[in-house]
Amino acid sequence: MSKLKQLLEAVGQEFPDDRLTYQKSVPTFHPENAREAAGLFRLANKCGVGMFITGFGNNVDPVGESFAGMISVRTDRLNRLIEVAPEDFFAVVGGGYPLRELNLNLAEHRLYLPHSDLPYVGSVGGAVATGLSATLFDHLLPIRKYVIKAEIVMPTGEIITPGSVCFKSVSGYDIVKIFSPSWGLFGLLVSVTFRVMPDSARVEYATMVQNAIDREAFLGSLDEANGDIDAVYSRKIRSKFDPDGVLPIV
Ligand SMILES: Cc1cc2nc3c(=O)[nH]c(=O)nc-3n(C[C@H](O)[C@H](O)[C@H](O)COP(=O)(O)OP(=O)(O)OC[C@H]3O[C@@H](n4cnc5c(N)ncnc54)[C@H](O)[C@@H]3O)c2cc1C
Repeated sequence: MSKLKQLLEAVGQEFPDDRLTYQKSVPTFHPENAREAAGLFRLANKCGVGMFITGFGNNVDPVGESFAGMISVRTDRLNRLIEVAPEDFFAVVGGGYPLRELNLNLAEHRLYLPHSDLPYVGSVGGAVATGLSATLFDHLLPIRKYVIKAEIVMPTGEIITPGSVCFKSVSGYDIVKIFSPSWGLFGLLVSVTFRVMPDSARVEYATMVQNAIDREAFLGSLDEANGDIDAVYSRKIRSKFDPDGVLPIV
């Protein structure tokens, strides 16, 4: 029996029927929470099957030869606005939530997230994973700056929640920032907590312009031939996070 068939059989036994669909013939898993995604990731490790994480997938749609033998993990059911804390200036959203809708909901609390006003028609998880960024007064303004915490399913199937909602949290490296950008190769962003600001600040971001998204720059840092110290560390992180290679570069 093929590895993928073995995995699909195990998925059928472990999860309710509607979690698995076939999108243009590619088996696609729709987790409803971190626990379900973690269960799939553990099975993928056990069966040796590669996975591809997808949000809205308008540009990278997991179809065709390169995805043969793989399973796609789609975030369409992780699409809730989970919490808005106006007094503590943070908002928690599912990885499959549309980024552009966030400000519509934050408005009733008189709050605002700059990147939700950009013309990025994708999910919160996709925006963080692709390292969405803007330019404001000649300065780079990455979405990462506002990511203060996340719930992540690691490639091995562990669930981690790096970061904190406090105003001062870490004195060393802020681990949650590693995931932006990460292009779906370091784990699944199930939910993301953003630092948000009073909507009176909106005027300060009026001239902000979205930057082009650069996948090649990130992949270049994972290329074995790249000897830069940052690239060496990127590869080390990836091999620690995903020792069995269940989230391959496609
Ligand atoms: C190379 C490239 C360049 C692009 N350039 C631009 C641009 O300049 N401007 C623009 O507006 N749009 C750009 N897009 C389009 C953008 O991808 C689309 O807006 C798309 O619909 C975004 O959907 P999404 O955010 O749900 O992410 P997807 O397209 O579904 O995924 C994008 C990447 O993020 C990863 N990912 C998605 N969700 C998660 C998650 N929850 N956890 C972990 N990883 C996740 C995926 O594995 C994939 O690698 C670009 C897309 C690509 C692939």
